[in-house]
Amino acid sequence: MIKKIWTLVIVLIAISAQAQDAITTKLYDSYEQYKETSLGKRRIKHSDIQPLIQELKANPKFEVQKVGESIEGRDLHLISIGAGKKNIFLWSQMHGNEPTATQAIFDILHFLDAPEFKEEKEVILSNLKLHFLPMLNPDGAEVFQRRNALGVDINRDALRLQSPESQALKRIRDSLDADFGFNLHDQSTYYNAELTEKPATISYLATAYNYEKDINDVRANAMKVIVYMNNIIQNYAPGQVGRYSDDFEPRAFGDNIAKWGTSLILIESGGYQNDPEKQEIRKLNFVSIISALYTIANESFKSIPTEDYEKIPKNDRMLFDLKITNASYELLGKKYIIDLGIFRNEVDLKGHNDFYYQSSVADQGDLSTYYGYENFDASGYTIVQGKIAETENLSNPMELLQNGIAFVKTQLPEQKKFTDLPVLLVNKDFKLNEFRLGPGDNPTFFLKKDGKFAYAVINGFLIDLSKPLKEQETGNGLIVR
Ligand SMILES: [Zn+2]
Repeated sequence: MIKKIWTLVIVLIAISAQAQDAITTKLYDSYEQYKETSLGKRRIKHSDIQPLIQELKANPKFEVQKVGESIEGRDLHLISIGAGKKNIFLWSQMHGNEPTATQAIFDILHFLDAPEFKEEKEVILSNLKLHFLPMLNPDGAEVFQRRNALGVDINRDALRLQSPESQALKRIRDSLDADFGFNLHDQSTYYNAELTEKPATISYLATAYNYEKDINDVRANAMKVIVYMNNIIQNYAPGQVGRYSDDFEPRAFGDNIAKWGTSLILIESGGYQNDPEKQEIRKLNFVSIISALYTIANESFKSIPTEDYEKIPKNDRMLFDLKITNASYELLGKKYIIDLGIFRNEVDLKGHNDFYYQSSVADQGDLSTYYGYENFDASGYTIVQGKIAETENLSNPMELLQNGIAFVKTQLPEQKKFTDLPVLLVNKDFKLNEFRLGPGDNPTFFLKKDGKFAYAVINGFLIDLSKPLKEQETGNGLIVR
């Protein structure tokens, strides 16, 4: 008899897991109809979200209140919906250059407003009251920087509370005394899931509330919901979830909010192959956060073992944008074998609406413990310096590259710092120094094999010289004055 009951319990759990999987799949597949299309790039500003907040204000389903102002006087809004007893508080972009979850929040608000998924939303909104504070640091977002206008990291201001943004966050946390808090960030794209080449597309943390990293019920609940979300992400980005370090930081908001009694879930949006604007990651936020709200509302998360949290691989930081291995490199007449790790750094354009790439060698030597988003085995290839040509004819850049030319002396366009051409445009008096590659240098060179220029690396972008340029990701070249 007991055996039969257990069989039944297991079958029921399997059925409910299947049903939830089906909901998640439906959410993922129907995402486009909820996506806020006006927020399509990472560099979004306070003015971009104001019309969306005004729309919500006019919608009787939502309560919208002004809850504070940034140092430079930009309004902070709290958007609430639901009739449940449990308060859930979600805030994003306390670091101004971390916008992925802000975008996802507006997608989630559209979803909550739409007619579909009636049953699931009924469960969510009758059990929970949801409170969203998108873009906590609008002054930082204005110039796409981490810190606020005071030059302070809001996430180190939870105790001193000098910034008005910090004061607003604390005031709302205290007034809601929320059961769950979602602390929504972006992390470096160079994080990977430990000991794998997979980027940590999403990283989670059930934030610790003391140095001992004790697990009380409040923290255990956060761990359980994270395990639930991790299982969902595994369907869409297998192996691409990391566990963020749980070292206690006494000045941080997450750690203090956990201490004040809210189950604190940190979500970090990292990197994803060929997704520089993080729109796929935004979608993963949408699916996993809504699913998390559902499991919190129906309490299905409670049966998840806390130990499963520890099975999520730790975050590590071992990725490069481009990793070149086993290249032959000549210095002072002798040959060496080196690997190169390359970062494609973003430099903001004026107005902070867009950027160009200014790449650098991040490391060189034996990089066998590192990984790359893009990898090239350069065994048998020799790194050689690019040559200079003087021409005004830039109509066939491939021909220049095939002749080993990386630097072009030409009339430089005024003020611009980059070019769409895969070369470096230089001044008439430009001269090449003796060729040496070192960390920090701009990675521009050729890979030669059997006397032929086979590949070019221009500003950190690898170009196959046997294939048409238009079929390749060539990034941008630079203008060197
Ligand atoms: Zn952050």
